[in-house]
Amino acid sequence: PPAVEAIDVTRAYELDGTRVQALRGVSLRIGEGEFAAIVGPSGSGKSTLMHLLGCLDRPTGGTLRIGGRDVAALSDAELAELRNSRIGFVFQSFHLLPRTSALDNVALPLAYRGVPRGERRRRAAEALARVGLAHRLDHRPAQMSGGEQQRVAIARALVGEPRLVLADEPTGNLDTATGHEVMDLLARLNAEQGVAVVLVTHEADIAERARRQIHIRDGRIERDTCPTRPHDAQ
Ligand code: ADP
Ligand code: ADP
Repeated sequence: PPAVEAIDVTRAYELDGTRVQALRGVSLRIGEGEFAAIVGPSGSGKSTLMHLLGCLDRPTGGTLRIGGRDVAALSDAELAELRNSRIGFVFQSFHLLPRTSALDNVALPLAYRGVPRGERRRRAAEALARVGLAHRLDHRPAQMSGGEQQRVAIARALVGEPRLVLADEPTGNLDTATGHEVMDLLARLNAEQGVAVVLVTHEADIAERARRQIHIRDGRIERDTCPTRPHDAQ
């Protein structure tokens, strides 16, 4: 199945008795191993869409399938399990524990999943090696550069062997050169390991690094450079 399939997905919020339509009918298909950037002005619905793709939230209308599973048919616990087994998250401000070693930061998601300590440490070291930080296992984020911290965060996103990495403004706190190094890393992980990457950015030169650009405006897809509509499936 595709990593993600959305058919006429809507998401409305109730705010003080007013209905805010954040997504107004989004249809898209993101294949296994794709590399896509979601672009659009502030308030256009990018975060809402990312939360839906990340199984952190549910649509209020339409159909959303993640890894072939219709999220409407899943309990909250099943949705959390789908998230934990398939999806890794990367954030603008890294969200690392500043005084905990890189190794322990990366191992943390496995602890929540009950993986034994020795295996956690082995897999965390391996994930840090995949992002070029094999020599930084014992360093703490507080001692690292922004680019290194984002690489630790990417290792943490990868440690559970996700099929999809969702990155919300992953270069937003980095200078231009370091931002492009992080994009080099995401592109390499995508190409070599086949993990699908979907990122949100408002920087045009970062968006151009992805193979596909999905432009959102007012809760709708305004332009998709590689539109694979749900009914084109297969
Ligand atoms: P973007 O990430 O592109 O800035 P968002 O997805 O955050 O856009 O927001 C889309 C629209 O939905 C905006 O009008 C925003 O104010 C509204 N919105 C987002 N989250 C909520 C919420 N939790 N409650 C009410 N309105 C929200
Ligand atoms: P940044 O400042 O780095 O962009 P944010 O705090 O804006 O970070 O991003 C965190 C976003 O991730 C929030 O919008 C939050 O709703 C969402 N989120 C909440 N819980 C989780 C989770 N378990 N995994 C991933 N994202 C989450």
